[in-house]
Amino acid sequence: MTPVLEIRDLSVDYGQGEGAVHAVSSVNLVLNRGEVLGLAGESGSGKSTLAYAMTRLLPPPGLITGGEVLHHGRDKPEPVDVLGLTPKQLRSFRWNDIAIVFQGAMNSLNPVSTVAAQLEDIYRAHRPEMSRAQRTKRSAELLRLVGISADRLGSYPHQLSGGMRQRVMIAMALALDPEIIIMDEPTTALDVVMQRQILEQMMRLREELGFSVLFITHDISLLVEFSDRIAIMYAGRIVEQAASEDMYRASSHPYSKGLLGSFPALHGPRRPLTGIPGSPPDMRTVPSGCPFHPRCPSAFDVCEREIPVLEKLSGANGDSSRSVACWLNTPSLSGHPGVGAT
Ligand code: SF4
Repeated sequence: MTPVLEIRDLSVDYGQGEGAVHAVSSVNLVLNRGEVLGLAGESGSGKSTLAYAMTRLLPPPGLITGGEVLHHGRDKPEPVDVLGLTPKQLRSFRWNDIAIVFQGAMNSLNPVSTVAAQLEDIYRAHRPEMSRAQRTKRSAELLRLVGISADRLGSYPHQLSGGMRQRVMIAMALALDPEIIIMDEPTTALDVVMQRQILEQMMRLREELGFSVLFITHDISLLVEFSDRIAIMYAGRIVEQAASEDMYRASSHPYSKGLLGSFPALHGPRRPLTGIPGSPPDMRTVPSGCPFHPRCPSAFDVCEREIPVLEKLSGANGDSSRSVACWLNTPSLSGHPGVGAT
């Protein structure tokens, strides 16, 4: 697997000085070429902040306080740090190399421009050499690619259904054939049938066009089905990373277990939903030690004092594709054989 985007020690604060809120703390994450990486966590866990920071779309008072975001471009010999790009380079990086599908298509599309005008705008800005006929032809192709008839090019967003608007957003994201697509809760506002249709179509397009996807959602059951790997965030930190199947069959971190127990199983026998007691922490006053300890059914004395670091776990077959930040993996501290041990 070769990386296409590598996040190293990325930290983001809201505000400055003593009152600063540490929304993202030293996050390391790798998106490999051609894979779907899921990022899950409750509201306020920092997942969208992370996406905005890595694309330099973070609005004030958000502030990147450390780290690197390395883009390994397909035709570039060396990785480029996105955080060091000039405004001109950044303009080209967005859309050409990375595109985002946001949650609310109605808020993201221009309500007074037709679909054609909004698609063609991308080509006018990034492919000025294209003729008007070429722009129109390509826009029609893009709409067909996402399952919308080309005769809707003249429609305004309010004349389209919610599902069609979200597909237009996907068409816009695909316009310049980017290597990476970030989907930030792309189907949360849609009904479950439309949600499934759109995600299935997105995965077909991924197979066809070969882009990588960072799929952000609070719904871990969707990630189990549609991602290759899953990373779980809590209070601004990654607390577990594993292949989707491993996460589903045997998640290690108590928070991951809680998330998985909060959604109905897509396959297999029915089971009662367990949920997670309590609420996500107020990020202005994050609990000491492991931030999950006030809600954790397995917490013990050290959890309240020390922050666990994300460490690789060796599975039964010796692989180390799973990383977990939990003191239960330190048997000398917990007296527990380790959550990875089965
Ligand atoms: Fe629970 Fe302690 Fe593990 Fe945190 S470190 S998840 S509190 S057992």
